[in-house]
Amino acid sequence: MSEIPTLRLRKLNHGSIVDQGQFVLYWMTAFRRPFYNFALQRAVEWAEKLQKPLLILEALRSDYPHASDRMHSFILQGMADNTEHFATTAACYYPFVETEKGAGKGLLQKLAETASVIITDDYPGCFYPHMLQAAAAKISVYMEAVDSNGLLPLRAADHDFPTAYAFRRFLQKELPGHLFDLPLADPLRAVQLPRLEMVAAEVLDFWPPATGQLLRADRQTLARLPINHCVEATAEQGGFKAAERYLQRFLAERLPLYLQRSEPDQQVSSELSPYLHYGHISTHQIVQQLFVQEGWTIGQLSPETRGKRSGWWGLSEAAESFLDELVTWRELGFNAASLRAGYDQYYSLPEWAQASLAKHRDDPRIYLYSMKQFEQAQTHDPLWNAAQNQLRQEGRMQNYLRMLWGKKILEWSPDAETAMQVMFTLNDKYALDGRDPNSVNGILWCLGRYDRAWGPERPIFGKIRYMTSENTARKFSVKQYLQRYTNS
Ligand SMILES: Cc1cc2nc3c(=O)[nH]c(=O)nc-3n(C[C@H](O)[C@H](O)[C@H](O)COP(=O)(O)OP(=O)(O)OC[C@H]3O[C@@H](n4cnc5c(N)ncnc54)[C@H](O)[C@@H]3O)c2cc1C
Repeated sequence: MSEIPTLRLRKLNHGSIVDQGQFVLYWMTAFRRPFYNFALQRAVEWAEKLQKPLLILEALRSDYPHASDRMHSFILQGMADNTEHFATTAACYYPFVETEKGAGKGLLQKLAETASVIITDDYPGCFYPHMLQAAAAKISVYMEAVDSNGLLPLRAADHDFPTAYAFRRFLQKELPGHLFDLPLADPLRAVQLPRLEMVAAEVLDFWPPATGQLLRADRQTLARLPINHCVEATAEQGGFKAAERYLQRFLAERLPLYLQRSEPDQQVSSELSPYLHYGHISTHQIVQQLFVQEGWTIGQLSPETRGKRSGWWGLSEAAESFLDELVTWRELGFNAASLRAGYDQYYSLPEWAQASLAKHRDDPRIYLYSMKQFEQAQTHDPLWNAAQNQLRQEGRMQNYLRMLWGKKILEWSPDAETAMQVMFTLNDKYALDGRDPNSVNGILWCLGRYDRAWGPERPIFGKIRYMTSENTARKFSVKQYLQRYTNS
């Protein structure tokens, strides 16, 4: 019997299990990690059951939206970590990287011809749902998608939520039933399987596996790939090894200071979002290690399920606050991506927000900037420019300033729809954690999603929550941040 909760499994086609197949294929697309990964665990279960080798295909296309040196190097470094790790296991790992646009076309179908079963990742955002549907329609072998997105299985909720508060209430009732359904820390540990040394030569000749040189992702190698070279790689290292270093640093040094995370001059948040986005680390791993550090037991959960932001877990205030971001806010994004029609479209904003923005559509704007001016950080506001510079240079933006950044784009754009487009373009082009369900929620939050109407009604914003750089600078210390990110 499977150890994986059935709520996390989704049949993708009516294909059959092929007994004569040569291997079980795990097509790794979103959960790009060997640890705490329900999809990999499921593939191992199938391989053990059928007594077949396990083949793991991790592929990187060159035509995904905003493919650039920055995003590619982060993913490639993750693939280098995976190559090293899987070489010590019973699985056969096949990293494939497109060196020409469209070069990977047909690879999955070719492997499917000799597979017994195909397991893949069930990720609700971006192009993934469409990609899975299209692949499953062409493949006759049995395909299954596995949800390893967060603590709450996507299908544990049958509706989306108007506020974080409503979702938190739901979580407090529902989550205890899922907290002990953990993925194995290392699903390939001590696993014995028939060995597949390598994939058939006819496949490898046409789709050669990525070389160590390619996975090192140095500047010259990236220059030869058909991606955008104007968005440069950052110093940030991708992959599960770096993700674990970030997690240890957070737990050891930053967690006690987490309540001060809104201060731009202090970087105390975890900076785990790119690793979560590319699946290099899982929420389960983060939460497990946090529980161990805090000596947490299930008996500490509060019986009160009224959606209070703090106190439900029975942990330190800092840990509660971190879990509210990592679980409530992050998984709210996944809930919306899987259940809200048009979740990334303007029309999915609450009606009050759309009506208020429409009423103020023609309000005069004192400042109006073009996409290019925003992109080049050429506004009149030094704090906004500094935040945009950080995004362009580092692929990150300080948490609190990210909200201010979006609010000001609304204020300085001809209308809210244009503002939304500017936010998506800049966020997804430069941010290492971009193109995530939480890119969508963060950007739409700036326009009223999950928020309430605020008074007094203001020009341009109407009843949408308003923020100013002046207030931010009054509330927090921003001097060092400005020095660091202001272009001389
Ligand atoms: C305009 C705008 C755009 C945003 N774009 C993105 C994006 O592209 N990708 C992205 O992952 N998040 C985005 N966010 C949400 C949030 O700002 C980032 O998740 C956070 O800054 C990441 O930093 P961290 O890893 O140090 O967070 P921490 O404070 O250490 O939090 C831990 C984790 O919790 C999650 N988290 C934290 N804050 C939020 C939040 N407000 N909403 C949802 N999840 C959260 C993230 O996965 C994060 O890594 C955006 C917010 C705004 C206002």
